[in-house]
Amino acid sequence: MSATPPIPLHTLPSALAVRTHCPYCAFQCGILMGEDLGADMPRVSGDPHFPVNNGQLCIKGWTSSALLDHPERITTPQLRDSRGEWRDVSWEESLDFVTDKMKAIREQHGANANGVFGSGALTNEKTYLLGKFARVALGTANIDYNGRFCMSSAAAAQNRAFGIDRGLPFPIADIEQAEVVMLVGANTADTLPPMMQWFDRQKKAGGRLVVADPRRTETARAADLFLQLTPGTDLTLANGLLYIALEERLTDERYISERTTGFDAVRAVALQYHPARVERLTGVPESQLRQAVRWLATARASMVLSGRGTEQHSKGVESVHSWINLMLALGKVGKPHSGYGCLTGQGNGQGGREHGQKADQLPGYRLIEVGAHREALAKVWGVEAESLPRKGKSAFELLDSLGSEIRGLFVMGSNVAVAAPHLSRLEQRLKSLELLVVCDAFLNETSAHAHVFLPVYQWAEEDGTMTNLEGRVIRRRAVSRPPSGPRSDLDVLRELAMRLGCGEKFAFRTSESVFNELRRATAGATADYSGITYAKIESNDGVFWPCASEEHPGTPRLFAERFHHTDGRARFFAVEHRPAGEEPDAEFPLFFTTGRYKEHYNSGAQTRVVSRLRNTKPTPRLELHPRLARRHRVVTGSRVVVESRRAKVEFMAEVTPDIRPDTLFAPFHWGGRDAANLLTGIALDPISRMPEFKLTAVRIARVMS
Ligand code: SF4
Repeated sequence: MSATPPIPLHTLPSALAVRTHCPYCAFQCGILMGEDLGADMPRVSGDPHFPVNNGQLCIKGWTSSALLDHPERITTPQLRDSRGEWRDVSWEESLDFVTDKMKAIREQHGANANGVFGSGALTNEKTYLLGKFARVALGTANIDYNGRFCMSSAAAAQNRAFGIDRGLPFPIADIEQAEVVMLVGANTADTLPPMMQWFDRQKKAGGRLVVADPRRTETARAADLFLQLTPGTDLTLANGLLYIALEERLTDERYISERTTGFDAVRAVALQYHPARVERLTGVPESQLRQAVRWLATARASMVLSGRGTEQHSKGVESVHSWINLMLALGKVGKPHSGYGCLTGQGNGQGGREHGQKADQLPGYRLIEVGAHREALAKVWGVEAESLPRKGKSAFELLDSLGSEIRGLFVMGSNVAVAAPHLSRLEQRLKSLELLVVCDAFLNETSAHAHVFLPVYQWAEEDGTMTNLEGRVIRRRAVSRPPSGPRSDLDVLRELAMRLGCGEKFAFRTSESVFNELRRATAGATADYSGITYAKIESNDGVFWPCASEEHPGTPRLFAERFHHTDGRARFFAVEHRPAGEEPDAEFPLFFTTGRYKEHYNSGAQTRVVSRLRNTKPTPRLELHPRLARRHRVVTGSRVVVESRRAKVEFMAEVTPDIRPDTLFAPFHWGGRDAANLLTGIALDPISRMPEFKLTAVRIARVMS
């Protein structure tokens, strides 16, 4: 398959810079790529006409072009030799090797012994084709992706409450019109910096910002009210706010009766969350609880936006339910500039969870265990519905089966050896595989264990679509000529499928032809893309799904009239405070929580090779409170060891009053001995199967020099 012919950068005067999007997070900032956009400016500039970032970029976006001609980029397929060293091989040899091994594993251990691991960074086209490759070419049930570690709790809760999961059910611009915005577990100043412009506008218009977080982050500094809650008590906080809303008669009884079901059980539970109890559990004073809920309830328009801080818990789905319960009870969901939304993290975290790379899903949010859904996809794919595998293992369980039930793993765009919890356990699993294939542009901690490395194009080298955190489907464009050697992921999948005997089902010539099959595959489904075309995206600054016909303008706002359950009503779910997978105790008395730096993106596989980003933040630092630091005779710059029940990791200390005295924080962008995820545990949310990244019981000690 040949990519759409790239436009050579050297022929692009700045006036003709091409509109595309940043390779990193779900804000998917519009960028202009061209030459000479400024004196010492890289060939990337913020797109002033894209209505999400309005020309603003963060440091990752500004430096993103450094990845394209990076000297460490791998351009030739690699095969591990008998001494364990990488050897340059041809594409023919590498692809033959991979498919011979996949076939042997299938013959010896069954189809489900081949696993596939995708990514929320892949375009919609790649997501779709990877899911089809797993089910049709490999015949395995075991495909999942790293979004399971990111947005799956909010996705599950929104599906259950609203009947649909679109991270934000309204455009980002609605923030400006909201009188009150409450951010829970979301540090947008570091994770989505250009989003802060919307809070600035909201505040200029007289609005208020409330932030709930265990750390006084840059975002919290911008807040009118900051609730510094104990890690793992988000649900308790939300139930406590609902108690006060009931006590002060701030709930919207008419809305509850006309638009929802299940409130009686929620009311009964919420009435057990007296402010004194909530203050004791969360550490948030009653006066702040009352202030927050009064602002949310009495505002003409108010919204709660959640991030990973509230979601990455073994009770993440219930935590999100508690926030949705609150906003439904206040009658805000579906009202103009109001409601609940999840701030999706990964670049295509939204599209990535819609189009079939989850173990339980088929494209368009169809479910693999529902007969009619299987039939619909089988028809598009030209196979028998009975031939499609059933539901497979979720991400953590899939990785935890490596070497036992799963003997071969094909990884596309994901660095699991940094991003997964309890990394020493995963490393053993990776080492025991008969086949590990990594498709990426740079070697990383996962490929350190691989047998085959397949070098692929990067974002600016091929066409495709992404779906941003608003549910807006946008176009990435081939702007930069790839070096000779790498291939498109779509090309790799086609070549592998051909060798596995079903090349005719993968005979796509362009990403647009893949997208057109995706459109047919999602027609009539919840995430209906059938009315979205490349041309329509281009002429409209993106199209919001669902969009069921080419005449349909797309759906920027959901829930104004009805929710997506068949009766049109939203569902309340009663949720109770319960302990985390492991709570601090006498042996491990502190909370440890993880997060991001603004200079790095997720596992750091891309950002750690960009010198400007690496030089600014070369290593992770451990944040701790001065009181705790004094107790351990630690100052900023001291070396400290953090120990959990699974591992010890040494960090450089950064003493700051911005964190709770009972809590430690470190970023998770590094692997090897610096990996924060060596410490994290394997407690999973029972519904979303999200690991509990945000709460680990630990102890610390100063390293004696
Ligand atoms: Fe925008 Fe995210 Fe890229 Fe930063 S990383 S420029 S916020 S899309």
